[in-house]
Amino acid sequence: MVVGDAVYVVDCGNGVARQLALAGLRLGALRGVFVTHHHSDHNADYGNLLLLAWAADLRSPVGTWGPPPLKRMTRQFLRMNDVDIRTRIADEGRADPATLIRAHELRAGGEVMRDERVRVRAAVVEHPPLRPAFAYRFDSADRSVVFSGDTRPSAALIELARGADVLVHEVMYLPALEKLIASEPQAARLRQHLLDSHTTAEQVGRVASEAGVKTLVLNHFVPGGDAALTDAVWRAAVAPHFKGELVIGRDLLEV
Ligand SMILES: [Zn+2]
Ligand SMILES: [Zn+2]
Repeated sequence: MVVGDAVYVVDCGNGVARQLALAGLRLGALRGVFVTHHHSDHNADYGNLLLLAWAADLRSPVGTWGPPPLKRMTRQFLRMNDVDIRTRIADEGRADPATLIRAHELRAGGEVMRDERVRVRAAVVEHPPLRPAFAYRFDSADRSVVFSGDTRPSAALIELARGADVLVHEVMYLPALEKLIASEPQAARLRQHLLDSHTTAEQVGRVASEAGVKTLVLNHFVPGGDAALTDAVWRAAVAPHFKGELVIGRDLLEV
């Protein structure tokens, strides 16, 4: 989320700092990091993003929010990188990152943060076995954007997303998954696990319709890397259930 000259990041999967650079955004413009839950495809580069921003041109405080143990993770990450941090403080006269980075742990939904540009609210979503997992809503002067994180269809998310301009939602394509897991001995159990923690293409269309959002952006495609799952396939699976604008998300896409 870019609001004016401030950058807010939702989730820190592999390569998030590099993607920001490729998107033409300055790491030092980072003002907030919002982690939805602690699966590695959402948090693996949480510490790296902060460290690389600090080593680049970060001069202003950055708030981070997410489920526990976010404070401990932040502390331990800084400790792990103690050599680099102490060297740069002594050598380059940098501020201690521990004073710039302010981690906050969330245990429930509600207002998370408010600054002069944006108001952020969270809802607890359903992504077992990880509890809590959050969706986030950003309201700025000109737009409201909601990020689902990983979740099965969630009433709390629909409430959070009510009337939003943009809903960025995860999606899975069950027929391709069923083919993938067919050879697994526990196929039925695996299928149920996926349905308990993620949202199918049909369901995401219904969620977006029920919430009354203008634009639905699909992301976090499961299964990923399947060349047969073209944009047209995703569109055909969702469009019958959502009449608003439908965007098939891709890396570095600007909405
Ligand atoms: Zn997850
Ligand atoms: Zn995920």
